[in-house]
Amino acid sequence: MPYAIAGVITHTDLAMSHSIEFNIAKVRQLIREAEKKYGRSPGSVRLIAASKAHPASLIRDVAAAGVRDVGENYLQEALAKQAQLLDLPLIWHFIGPIQSNKTRTIAQHFDWVHSVDRLKIAQRLSDQRPSGLPPLNICLQVNISGEVTKSGMPPDQVVEVAAAVSRLHGIAFRGLMAIPGPAPDFTRQRESFHQLAKIANRLRSEHPHLDTLSMGMSGDMEAAIAEGATMVRIGTRIFGPRSA
Ligand SMILES: *Cc1c(COP(=O)(O)O)cnc(C)c1O
Repeated sequence: MPYAIAGVITHTDLAMSHSIEFNIAKVRQLIREAEKKYGRSPGSVRLIAASKAHPASLIRDVAAAGVRDVGENYLQEALAKQAQLLDLPLIWHFIGPIQSNKTRTIAQHFDWVHSVDRLKIAQRLSDQRPSGLPPLNICLQVNISGEVTKSGMPPDQVVEVAAAVSRLHGIAFRGLMAIPGPAPDFTRQRESFHQLAKIANRLRSEHPHLDTLSMGMSGDMEAAIAEGATMVRIGTRIFGPRSA
């Protein structure tokens, strides 16, 4: 730590050096409280650190605080960080929009892909997953808000895409993901997440092994947990605001 070498500890240094650990402790506490309040089993919600726009050094701090799951949105940025963190046992989640010419590299370098929004992407990830690696875990991204974001497939396509995806080798179909648009209050947030949970529940009659609902970010994690999230993707509450 630079301040140790300089021999002078300022309040800012202390705040900076402890903030990730402190923020993660707070997020974990929020998760525990929400699990309890909404009748979820303790430990049923997994924390993914969404680290876009933040450097590898901060992911090191995240890992030091005991979080192994890291979510990245942009492939080149993710690869650069991965190359700096090879010594850590991290689990890498791809959570950003996917162009088809990026699937090969994603299939080689990630453990999870949350943002599969069309069958073609799943087929390519399946074909391109290296045979020496375990199956790539995937979630289908659903556009439940209908307008705000363009990513995600319409809810009425999910059953058909899920049927096709579940037959692919090299990938393990784990569940659904959504990024609802900003909602004015907790009730409205829950309504969005409830839509995704309902789709997942219906899917389970055909796909009983589905165990993942990837939903909830810094602003709406409690509502997501109330509606059954098993993974929350948290950026700002861990790292602070993203500049630019
Ligand atoms: C940036 C991002 C997050 C984290 O958002 P915060 O509001 O900073 O917690 C989660 N999921 C996806 C897909 C993101 O792009």
